[in-house]
Amino acid sequence: MIRKAIIFSAPSGAGKTTLVRHLMEKLPILQFSVSATSRSKREHEIHGKDYFFLTPEQFRAHIQSNDFLEWEEVYPNHYYGTLKSEVERIFEEGKVVIFDVDVVGGLNLKEYFGSEALAVFVKPPSEEELENRLRYRNTETEEKIQLRLAKAKHELAFEDRFDTVIVNENLEIAKGESLEKVKNFIQ
Ligand code: 5GP
Repeated sequence: MIRKAIIFSAPSGAGKTTLVRHLMEKLPILQFSVSATSRSKREHEIHGKDYFFLTPEQFRAHIQSNDFLEWEEVYPNHYYGTLKSEVERIFEEGKVVIFDVDVVGGLNLKEYFGSEALAVFVKPPSEEELENRLRYRNTETEEKIQLRLAKAKHELAFEDRFDTVIVNENLEIAKGESLEKVKNFIQ
């Protein structure tokens, strides 16, 4: 069975989700790994498509049962993780799995998959721009924005540990670069 993985990681607000969506449109062999989370569902989100939404208790039960390939408590009581069952399902379908995870999660996945994974770090052009993007999204309270911003600034330090870096200054250029790199890797 082919077990190839594409990992897109970035500080929240760098634009990695847009790039991952673009890649999935262009390359049907890619299949998105739906993560589990215990954070509350945003209005437009769909259970089973964007995330598997669990209560913190349900999430902790899966941790106990060793069901996760990696997991993190990203903010207090806000767990995020990759279910082993989700990744196995994708490989069984003969697809290449693509992850949209935070930076620590990305490094953990890279350690697990080794050379079978391409780990891509998506970088905002500057810290100011990152803050603008987080605010523009406007889905969070000021307190949550501040939490995300502090986490994002910390995450910028990890780019050297990824296989490759894409600076998302111009979205069209970043989309083209992402497609090129992923195509080369899965060929
Ligand atoms: P959000 O709440 O904005 O959907 O996601 C918050 C952060 O958690 C993002 O950086 C997102 O990529 C990350 N994340 C999503 N799924 C996972 C996962 O399965 N594992 C880890 N470690 N992080 C994840």
